[in-house]
Amino acid sequence: MNSLWNDQEAAEYQDDLGLRVYTSRLLGREPSLVLHGGGNTSVKITERTLLGNEEEILYVKGSGWDLETIDVAGFAPVRMSHLLALAQLDSLSDPQMVNELKTHMTNAAAPTPSVEAILHAVLPHKFVDHTHADALVTLTNTAEGEARIREIYGASVVVIPYIMPGFDLARECARLFAKHAAPHTVGMVLLQHGIFSFGPTARESYERMIELVTLAEEYLAQHKAWTISLPPVEPPSQVLRNELAALRREIATQTQTPMIVALQEDAKSLAFARHVDVERISQQGPATPDHVIRTKRLPMLGRNVADYVRRYARYFDEHAPHAGEEKTMLDPAPRVILDSTWGLITVGRTAKDAAIVRDIYSHTIDVILRAEDLGGYRALSARDLFDMEYWDLEQAKLRKGGQPPQFTGEVALVTGAASGIGKACVASLLQRGAAVIGLDVSEEVATLSKQAAYLGLACDVTDTVQLDAALERGTRAYGGLDMLILNAGMFPPGRRIAELPDKEWQSVMTVNLDANLTLLRETHPLLKLAPRGGRVVVIGSKNVPAPGPGAAAYSASKAALTQLARVAALEWGSDNIRINCLHPNAVFDTGIWTDEVLQARAQHYGLSVEEYKTNNVLRTEVRSRDVAELAAEMCGPLFAKTTGAQLPVDGGNERVI
Ligand code: ZN
Repeated sequence: MNSLWNDQEAAEYQDDLGLRVYTSRLLGREPSLVLHGGGNTSVKITERTLLGNEEEILYVKGSGWDLETIDVAGFAPVRMSHLLALAQLDSLSDPQMVNELKTHMTNAAAPTPSVEAILHAVLPHKFVDHTHADALVTLTNTAEGEARIREIYGASVVVIPYIMPGFDLARECARLFAKHAAPHTVGMVLLQHGIFSFGPTARESYERMIELVTLAEEYLAQHKAWTISLPPVEPPSQVLRNELAALRREIATQTQTPMIVALQEDAKSLAFARHVDVERISQQGPATPDHVIRTKRLPMLGRNVADYVRRYARYFDEHAPHAGEEKTMLDPAPRVILDSTWGLITVGRTAKDAAIVRDIYSHTIDVILRAEDLGGYRALSARDLFDMEYWDLEQAKLRKGGQPPQFTGEVALVTGAASGIGKACVASLLQRGAAVIGLDVSEEVATLSKQAAYLGLACDVTDTVQLDAALERGTRAYGGLDMLILNAGMFPPGRRIAELPDKEWQSVMTVNLDANLTLLRETHPLLKLAPRGGRVVVIGSKNVPAPGPGAAAYSASKAALTQLARVAALEWGSDNIRINCLHPNAVFDTGIWTDEVLQARAQHYGLSVEEYKTNNVLRTEVRSRDVAELAAEMCGPLFAKTTGAQLPVDGGNERVI
């Protein structure tokens, strides 16, 4: 591992806190050191208060911040004198400790200080860096872990036995550090947890971290436990989507919560899931306390969700009832599933959570396989894992909770997603917490959003091969389908029936009608498995109830589509799938309506552009967003008892009313 320190970059950061930001980001750039909010850093700075006194302040990473992207605002300023006094107490519960940290900051707007703040305070060095480096976690999760650490580092690090993060760990670190630190001590190794480095400057502290971790990596390499070799494997090529959706449905049935279920198709995950010893090596638990909360105690092997949930409840009963403890059982859904056919599947309340589990478990695989090469992986005890999983602070978060967005854990598919009403539907659904698969002929669909909850796929919905591939990919990404917005359509230039060629008629029918039949048929098995029932919204048109001359193909195609939806409502009601139609009119903020076209049409009717846009009963402009919001609401509880309905969204049209 190399130092990423760069003099030019560093020159952009002025003072101690600035450099603290810089080297924290350097640590954050290396995923084998810190992942998704893991690790923390600090700097001690003497400041003058408003009253003119000098005061020493610990700037420590705030919770909710990632080292990779941290800024000055991500560091919480806590009074050192109070932290050091707290470290003298005999005991302090975690909630009390958090209260003390929060009430002794010098900036009320700062984030909650890291629970490792007291630990940072008791180390008598200006800069302190802490990571859960893979190499250290690997070494210390083996039978001879402690001896190996002493062999590698001698007295240059102080070794701390495993203690759960919190006050007791901070106090024990203070005690052992005072007892064992030598003049040349540059770090501290926490067995089965991670490593600290420190120094008088940001650079020294950071580079010591790199040096210490490099020593561990070299040790692993010398012991032939660094390079991971797994046999080549073939990913599952058959269609999995309906079986995956069935698994997702089963998870929701067992846990009363829809979840995102993501199939990971990389070679390493797949080979690990098919490892001959997968049962023994995967069923010990995560490698560091930091990972326990995100990935849960144990992966599920195979697909028997009911059995997993039963065992999880038993594990809770076995460990929970300790005197004075009041614990709420977490949702018992697995977060990691290892299946010998499918490979690795990660599960989360949101697509982002499932992606975080994927990243963490990828490192867990490295740690386990390297530790195995070193003589055998040995994780924390079941009791330690339980204490971490049911940590008071996590339980407090659960109790505070609050309602997540209404479509959290659900999946929607939108056609014609790259522009206009489709693009607005993507935004409305993402905003309500859904994971969204966007399809469009335009490649632009891939770039609508960078968030994990969005997957944009270029796809011609009239091509059944492309559509099949897109449905498979979308389902492998999120595990199923709960909502379908049929929006893709074409609006050909006006033409009277007398001049309408067959070809034009057919191409409009192919896009506006036939493709939607295929979509409905192919998604029916998925929608049927939606935990809260499937929902379909068809974007029809005002032309259904009120057609216009010159739009025969368009009006007929949308009318036929509406009729198709009505039949689907009748056929699918017993599958708990609702299907409703929206009939928008005169939505002008879409790709086809350029300023010139608008001007020309307005002139044609002798109206100003403004009058033309609001030419309806309510004299209001109908925008893509208005249609999208209504489409999203139609998937929600307000319309839970409505199916087969047609709703205009047109500002009121005299011919429709
Ligand atoms: Zn830690």
